[in-house]
Amino acid sequence: SISMKRESEMKNMYTEFAGAGTRDTGGGGIDMIGIVKGDITKFRADAIVNAANTGLLGGGGVDGAIHRAAGPELLEECRTLGGCKTGEAKITKGYRLPARFVIHTPGPVWRGGDHGEEELLANSYRSSLTLAAENDCKTIAFPSISTGVYGFPLDRAAAVAVKTICDFLDRDHRLGEVTMVCFDEKTRKAYEDAMASLYRGN
Ligand code: ADP
Repeated sequence: SISMKRESEMKNMYTEFAGAGTRDTGGGGIDMIGIVKGDITKFRADAIVNAANTGLLGGGGVDGAIHRAAGPELLEECRTLGGCKTGEAKITKGYRLPARFVIHTPGPVWRGGDHGEEELLANSYRSSLTLAAENDCKTIAFPSISTGVYGFPLDRAAAVAVKTICDFLDRDHRLGEVTMVCFDEKTRKAYEDAMASLYRGN
Protein backbone atom coordinates (compact mmCIF):
# COMPACT_ATOMS: atom_id res chain seq x y z
CA SER A 1 0.00 0.00 0.00
CA ILE A 2 2.51 2.54 -1.22
CA SER A 3 1.18 5.55 -3.12
CA MET A 4 2.30 6.08 -6.73
CA LYS A 5 4.15 9.20 -5.71
CA ARG A 6 5.90 7.48 -2.87
CA GLU A 7 6.74 4.62 -5.18
CA SER A 8 8.38 6.88 -7.77
CA GLU A 9 10.31 8.66 -5.04
CA MET A 10 11.50 5.27 -3.87
CA LYS A 11 12.64 4.38 -7.38
CA ASN A 12 14.62 7.63 -7.57
CA MET A 13 16.23 6.94 -4.24
CA TYR A 14 16.91 3.42 -5.33
CA THR A 15 18.81 4.56 -8.44
CA GLU A 16 20.65 7.19 -6.47
CA PHE A 17 21.96 4.72 -3.96
CA ALA A 18 22.76 2.08 -6.59
CA GLY A 19 21.83 -0.99 -4.66
CA ALA A 20 20.32 0.46 -1.57
CA GLY A 21 16.67 1.35 -1.28
CA THR A 22 15.85 4.20 1.00
CA ARG A 23 12.28 4.53 2.07
CA ASP A 24 10.89 7.49 3.92
CA THR A 25 8.39 5.57 5.97
CA GLY A 26 6.90 8.59 7.67
CA GLY A 27 7.13 9.36 11.34
CA GLY A 28 10.50 11.00 10.84
CA GLY A 29 12.55 7.82 10.45
CA ILE A 30 14.28 6.70 7.29
CA ASP A 31 14.40 2.92 7.09
CA MET A 32 16.90 1.56 4.69
CA ILE A 33 17.84 -1.70 3.08
CA GLY A 34 21.27 -2.01 1.54
CA ILE A 35 22.97 -4.71 -0.51
CA VAL A 36 26.74 -5.01 -0.49
CA LYS A 37 29.36 -7.59 -1.37
CA GLY A 38 31.67 -8.53 1.47
CA ASP A 39 32.59 -10.59 4.49
CA ILE A 40 29.96 -10.28 7.22
CA THR A 41 32.52 -10.97 9.97
CA LYS A 42 34.12 -7.59 9.14
CA PHE A 43 30.81 -5.73 9.12
CA ARG A 44 30.26 -3.09 11.77
CA ALA A 45 26.63 -3.26 12.84
CA ASP A 46 24.75 -3.54 16.11
CA ALA A 47 23.99 -7.14 15.12
CA ILE A 48 25.07 -9.55 12.42
CA VAL A 49 22.97 -12.61 11.65
CA ASN A 50 24.47 -16.08 11.53
CA ALA A 51 23.04 -18.70 9.15
CA ALA A 52 23.38 -21.30 11.90
CA ASN A 53 22.26 -24.90 12.23
CA THR A 54 19.78 -26.09 14.85
CA GLY A 55 22.50 -27.27 17.23
CA LEU A 56 24.02 -23.76 17.37
CA LEU A 57 27.41 -25.36 17.90
CA GLY A 58 29.13 -23.98 14.82
CA GLY A 59 29.50 -25.41 11.34
CA GLY A 60 30.88 -24.55 7.92
CA GLY A 61 30.30 -21.57 5.66
CA VAL A 62 29.37 -18.29 7.26
CA ASP A 63 28.75 -20.02 10.61
CA GLY A 64 32.36 -21.24 10.75
CA ALA A 65 33.67 -17.84 9.68
CA ILE A 66 31.66 -16.05 12.41
CA HIS A 67 32.83 -18.46 15.13
CA ARG A 68 36.48 -18.13 14.03
CA ALA A 69 36.31 -14.34 14.00
CA ALA A 70 34.36 -14.04 17.27
CA GLY A 71 36.64 -16.41 19.20
CA PRO A 72 35.92 -19.40 21.45
CA GLU A 73 33.73 -17.43 23.89
CA LEU A 74 31.00 -17.44 21.25
CA LEU A 75 30.81 -21.23 21.21
CA GLU A 76 30.80 -21.24 25.01
CA GLU A 77 27.75 -18.98 25.09
CA CYS A 78 26.08 -20.97 22.30
CA ARG A 79 26.41 -24.16 24.34
CA THR A 80 24.16 -22.63 27.01
CA LEU A 81 21.32 -21.95 24.55
CA GLY A 82 20.04 -25.48 23.98
CA GLY A 83 19.86 -25.19 20.20
CA CYS A 84 17.31 -23.33 18.09
CA LYS A 85 14.45 -24.46 15.86
CA THR A 86 14.45 -23.74 12.14
CA GLY A 87 13.00 -20.27 11.49
CA GLU A 88 13.51 -19.11 15.09
CA ALA A 89 16.43 -17.02 16.36
CA LYS A 90 18.63 -16.61 19.43
CA ILE A 91 20.99 -13.79 20.36
CA THR A 92 24.50 -13.79 21.82
CA LYS A 93 27.21 -11.25 22.31
CA GLY A 94 29.63 -10.60 19.42
CA TYR A 95 32.87 -11.03 21.40
CA ARG A 96 35.82 -10.22 19.08
CA LEU A 97 33.58 -9.25 16.16
CA PRO A 98 33.00 -5.58 15.33
CA ALA A 99 29.29 -6.34 15.85
CA ARG A 100 27.84 -6.04 19.35
CA PHE A 101 25.51 -9.03 18.92
CA VAL A 102 25.22 -12.17 16.83
CA ILE A 103 21.70 -13.36 16.03
CA HIS A 104 21.73 -17.05 15.23
CA THR A 105 18.98 -18.45 13.02
CA PRO A 106 18.83 -21.84 11.33
CA GLY A 107 17.30 -21.39 7.89
CA PRO A 108 15.55 -24.30 6.19
CA VAL A 109 17.32 -27.02 4.23
CA TRP A 110 15.92 -27.00 0.68
CA ARG A 111 13.94 -30.22 0.11
CA GLY A 112 12.35 -29.45 -3.26
CA GLY A 113 10.16 -26.52 -2.27
CA ASP A 114 7.00 -28.24 -1.02
CA HIS A 115 8.10 -28.57 2.60
CA GLY A 116 7.30 -25.01 3.67
CA GLU A 117 10.81 -23.84 2.84
CA GLU A 118 9.79 -20.31 1.75
CA GLU A 119 7.72 -19.70 4.89
CA LEU A 120 10.49 -21.08 7.10
CA LEU A 121 13.04 -18.81 5.42
CA ALA A 122 10.75 -15.80 5.89
CA ASN A 123 10.41 -16.83 9.57
CA SER A 124 14.21 -16.77 9.94
CA TYR A 125 14.37 -13.18 8.66
CA ARG A 126 11.34 -12.06 10.73
CA SER A 127 12.57 -13.71 13.95
CA SER A 128 16.02 -12.15 13.51
CA LEU A 129 14.63 -8.66 12.82
CA THR A 130 12.27 -8.91 15.80
CA LEU A 131 15.05 -10.01 18.12
CA ALA A 132 17.31 -7.20 16.85
CA ALA A 133 14.59 -4.61 17.48
CA GLU A 134 13.88 -6.02 20.95
CA ASN A 135 17.57 -5.57 21.78
CA ASP A 136 17.60 -1.93 20.63
CA CYS A 137 19.69 -2.62 17.54
CA LYS A 138 19.55 0.07 14.87
CA THR A 139 21.79 -1.57 12.29
CA ILE A 140 21.64 -5.24 11.34
CA ALA A 141 23.42 -7.26 8.64
CA PHE A 142 22.30 -10.56 7.10
CA PRO A 143 24.16 -13.15 5.06
CA SER A 144 22.25 -14.98 2.34
CA ILE A 145 20.57 -17.51 4.64
CA SER A 146 20.13 -21.09 3.33
CA THR A 147 21.67 -20.52 -0.12
CA GLY A 148 24.99 -22.22 0.64
CA VAL A 149 25.15 -25.77 1.97
CA TYR A 150 21.36 -25.74 2.63
CA GLY A 151 20.75 -25.51 -1.14
CA PHE A 152 17.89 -22.98 -1.29
CA PRO A 153 17.68 -21.64 -4.89
CA LEU A 154 19.33 -18.22 -4.82
CA ASP A 155 16.70 -16.22 -6.74
CA ARG A 156 13.84 -17.58 -4.65
CA ALA A 157 15.72 -17.00 -1.40
CA ALA A 158 16.56 -13.43 -2.43
CA ALA A 159 12.91 -12.68 -3.25
CA VAL A 160 11.76 -14.04 0.12
CA ALA A 161 14.49 -12.13 1.98
CA VAL A 162 13.90 -8.67 0.48
CA LYS A 163 10.11 -9.00 0.68
CA THR A 164 10.24 -10.07 4.33
CA ILE A 165 12.70 -7.33 5.28
CA CYS A 166 10.70 -4.61 3.48
CA ASP A 167 7.41 -5.80 5.02
CA PHE A 168 9.03 -5.70 8.46
CA LEU A 169 10.43 -2.19 7.93
CA ASP A 170 7.01 -1.01 6.76
CA ARG A 171 5.38 -2.15 9.99
CA ASP A 172 8.06 -1.71 12.60
CA HIS A 173 10.17 1.44 12.72
CA ARG A 174 12.56 0.50 15.49
CA LEU A 175 15.36 -0.59 13.14
CA GLY A 176 17.31 1.99 11.15
CA GLU A 177 19.29 0.07 8.56
CA VAL A 178 19.30 -3.48 7.28
CA THR A 179 22.15 -4.65 5.04
CA MET A 180 22.43 -7.86 3.01
CA VAL A 181 26.12 -8.76 3.03
CA CYS A 182 26.65 -11.01 0.01
CA PHE A 183 29.80 -13.08 -0.16
CA ASP A 184 30.12 -13.20 -3.94
CA GLU A 185 29.03 -11.30 -7.03
CA LYS A 186 26.39 -13.84 -8.09
CA THR A 187 24.71 -13.51 -4.70
CA ARG A 188 24.91 -9.72 -4.70
CA LYS A 189 23.30 -9.59 -8.13
CA ALA A 190 20.48 -11.92 -7.09
CA TYR A 191 19.57 -9.63 -4.16
CA GLU A 192 19.85 -6.50 -6.34
CA ASP A 193 17.51 -8.09 -8.89
CA ALA A 194 15.06 -9.19 -6.21
CA MET A 195 15.05 -5.67 -4.78
CA ALA A 196 14.49 -4.13 -8.21
CA SER A 197 11.54 -6.51 -8.89
CA LEU A 198 9.99 -5.68 -5.56
CA TYR A 199 10.22 -1.96 -6.27
CA ARG A 200 8.76 -2.48 -9.74
CA GLY A 201 5.99 -4.53 -8.14
CA ASN A 202 6.53 -7.84 -9.90
P1 ADP B 1 23.42 -22.24 4.83
O1 ADP B 1 23.78 -23.50 5.58
O2 ADP B 1 22.34 -21.45 5.51
O3 ADP B 1 23.16 -22.50 3.38
P2 ADP B 1 26.14 -21.23 4.26
O4 ADP B 1 27.09 -20.63 5.24
O5 ADP B 1 26.52 -22.53 3.64
O6 ADP B 1 24.71 -21.29 5.00
O7 ADP B 1 25.86 -20.20 3.09
C1 ADP B 1 25.07 -19.05 3.23
C2 ADP B 1 25.70 -17.90 2.45
O8 ADP B 1 26.75 -17.33 3.23
C3 ADP B 1 26.33 -18.29 1.11
O9 ADP B 1 25.97 -17.31 0.14
C4 ADP B 1 27.82 -18.21 1.41
O10 ADP B 1 28.57 -17.88 0.24
C5 ADP B 1 27.84 -17.05 2.38
N1 ADP B 1 29.05 -16.84 3.19
C6 ADP B 1 30.04 -17.69 3.53
N2 ADP B 1 30.96 -17.06 4.28
C7 ADP B 1 30.54 -15.77 4.42
C8 ADP B 1 31.05 -14.59 5.07
N3 ADP B 1 32.18 -14.61 5.75
N4 ADP B 1 30.32 -13.44 4.98
C9 ADP B 1 29.16 -13.39 4.30
N5 ADP B 1 28.63 -14.45 3.68
C10 ADP B 1 29.31 -15.63 3.73
